[in-house]
Amino acid sequence: MSHDAHLTPIADGLFAWLPDGRGTWGLANCGLLVSGEHAALIDTPYDLPRTRALLDACARVLGPETRIGTAITTHSNGDHSYGLAALADVEIIGTEDYLHALDHEPTPQQMHLLIHETPQDQPTAWYLRRHFGRFDFTGLDVVAPTRTFTGRLDLTVGTAPVRLVQAGPAHTDGDLWVHLPQHGVVFTGDLAFADDHPVHWAGPLDQVVDACLAILATGATVIVPGHGPVMTPADLRAHIDYLGWVRDRAHQLHAQGVPAQRAALQLIDSGRYPGLGLPERLAITVATEYRHLDGDSRTPDLVALVDAAARIALSRDTRIPGPRTPAEDSRTAPPPQS
Ligand SMILES: [Zn+2]
Repeated sequence: MSHDAHLTPIADGLFAWLPDGRGTWGLANCGLLVSGEHAALIDTPYDLPRTRALLDACARVLGPETRIGTAITTHSNGDHSYGLAALADVEIIGTEDYLHALDHEPTPQQMHLLIHETPQDQPTAWYLRRHFGRFDFTGLDVVAPTRTFTGRLDLTVGTAPVRLVQAGPAHTDGDLWVHLPQHGVVFTGDLAFADDHPVHWAGPLDQVVDACLAILATGATVIVPGHGPVMTPADLRAHIDYLGWVRDRAHQLHAQGVPAQRAALQLIDSGRYPGLGLPERLAITVATEYRHLDGDSRTPDLVALVDAAARIALSRDTRIPGPRTPAEDSRTAPPPQS
């Protein structure tokens, strides 16, 4: 199961676990920082087999006296955090808001049921199986951070300074990004994506943009996004332009009374970013932005959001015109429909 990731040196004592995940969900990047006899993990994979593969790869680069004593978790989405269940005697650091975000995060047991027991004829079931069927969600318990903070937290791992910066609500309610000033590296978590359209659940997009601008302002030269290949500052600037485009178009279409799902289809059909995978994710990000524009502070229905994306993906996959769901007209969360 280790076939889809590699532990790559990106600076002295710093490694990135970079699954080849283009066009996929759930294959998140992780990091390993090593300084003397101390080491820290940044994020963990989605399931136990992949986490064991990461830990085996870490063991090969760690000295015999060195142990991983710290795990930094950038946000509560399972693809960055379920693997925490495989770690023992490790301090787990996340934001205070991470704990609240966990309340509306699906559990591994729920993911297993959604993927394997949702009726086959539903777009959501088709989409979940297609993108999440590769993962093994058994044997996992959700593990919460053992140390939390708000704002900013400065640590040292061995002699290496590490700065954690709270950014949420942005991608989720509890995001942080990790700055390694000595290395000139930032791990963004899912505040930035490479190769695929990003997906943002909490928003508003201005918060994501602000986080990306703050990351750029560190002067870091190597930026590890939550998914996809390592980015340069120029890549991150281009990503910020993308986010601004989505935000501005969403605001314009909202002002014109265009429903969220139709707005997402307009953005996709514009062909503005043909090189990015998973365009259907725009259904989720646009719906998130619309929620803010509507002043709707209710907890979003994640399954309904995925259903909106699934319907677009299915219509593209089967080359039929994009369906118009009841959801798009009400802008509320619908039950999945067959
Ligand atoms: Zn992710």
